[in-house]
Amino acid sequence: MTPSAIAVEIQDVRLWRSPDKTRIVLDLNGAAAHSVLELDNPRRLVVDLKDTQLAAPLTDLPLTGTPIARLRSGVRQGHDLRLVFDLTAYVQPKSFALPPSERTGHRLVIDLFDKASATTDNGPTEPLGTPVAASSSLPPSVVKSIDDLSGMRDIIVAIDAGHGGEDPGAIGPNKLREKDVVLNIARRLKARLQKIPGIKPVMIRDGDYYVSLRGRRELARKYQADIFVSIHADAFTKSSANGASVYMLSTRGASSATAQLLADRENAADLIGGVNIAEYEDDVAFAITDLTMDYKRDHSVWLGDEVLKDLGDVARLHKQQLEEAAFAVLKTPGVPSILVETGFISNPGESRKLATSSYQERMARAIEQGIVRYAARYAEPGTLFASRRTHGGGEYVVVSGDTLSEIASRFRVSVQALKSHNQLNGNTIRVGQKLTIPEA
Ligand SMILES: [Zn+2]
Repeated sequence: MTPSAIAVEIQDVRLWRSPDKTRIVLDLNGAAAHSVLELDNPRRLVVDLKDTQLAAPLTDLPLTGTPIARLRSGVRQGHDLRLVFDLTAYVQPKSFALPPSERTGHRLVIDLFDKASATTDNGPTEPLGTPVAASSSLPPSVVKSIDDLSGMRDIIVAIDAGHGGEDPGAIGPNKLREKDVVLNIARRLKARLQKIPGIKPVMIRDGDYYVSLRGRRELARKYQADIFVSIHADAFTKSSANGASVYMLSTRGASSATAQLLADRENAADLIGGVNIAEYEDDVAFAITDLTMDYKRDHSVWLGDEVLKDLGDVARLHKQQLEEAAFAVLKTPGVPSILVETGFISNPGESRKLATSSYQERMARAIEQGIVRYAARYAEPGTLFASRRTHGGGEYVVVSGDTLSEIASRFRVSVQALKSHNQLNGNTIRVGQKLTIPEA
């Protein structure tokens, strides 16, 4: 009989549901050997841990929406632990141990992939060299939509809320978590962009679960994103640090020490979020041409600059210029990508603001307006936005929540110009009303 003093303890059990899998994370106070067994009639998954004791409840896990009906435990041979997952559907299990990191101890990750879904977060799923083109294998909602009337396609904006699930991101005063704040801003941004004809927003994560940095890039490619906007609210060692900033990918060093620090920290997210490093290959196989790099660089600068202009109206800017650093999440070839730091969650004043829905909405609005202006100026031929540009002016249909001043600022024209161009006397507009946009 093994003395209990050497037994490893499971100190916490957590569960996250993402679109293609259910993730269970065991927090351990040491490394434990484990094995996984699938059993049928009834369907269940058995995880055996050697010399391990359970010191955490299994009862309050959020099992709704998962293929797990129940999780129970038993002791084997006096000193081993058996966890039994009673399942309602076939799953493809994968498990891996994670060594302690700066912010976490030993972890055992058990991923139960949905059988219907062929995609995995960590494993390569499709050839990475495939050109970005419409593919019939994509769900209809993500295929670049062709508007029958205009024959012009939408600009697809991939909205990437940083962190999630196992990775809370930065934690501010009052335990405010970056992952929650940025998901709220991302959802508000999506809701706003959805109302704009010619733009189609897609969410890289839309729930509390972790997506690997590489998984985020793969999703951007799968959705055929025209632009990628990652949203964060990080911490800084000095709590006095404050202000918003916008970053783009640098291939040769960071533009400041802070930029380098943030990129290093963001790039380490996979260690906390729980990525099986053994399976992780970088997507270097993709052939990156100079043309793709130039396109991406130019457009990232334009996009970043436009977003920065509006951000300055909402928050103090940490830096007036677009900054650069080697953020892994921004590396999707050919896709203009920026990372928006909405503020420092470590700063008490900024954290308080970031927690409010009104400030989150203002942030979302600032990012939205920057995106719309970028689209109006630089969108590729073939898009509805580009066609408006070439035909001069263009039409805008008023949607619920619009104001004249917001539409004017979105298209970077004055309210007066917008009014006189449309022969409007007052400031009232109605939903469905068509406005012609004067040349900026
Ligand atoms: Zn972050």
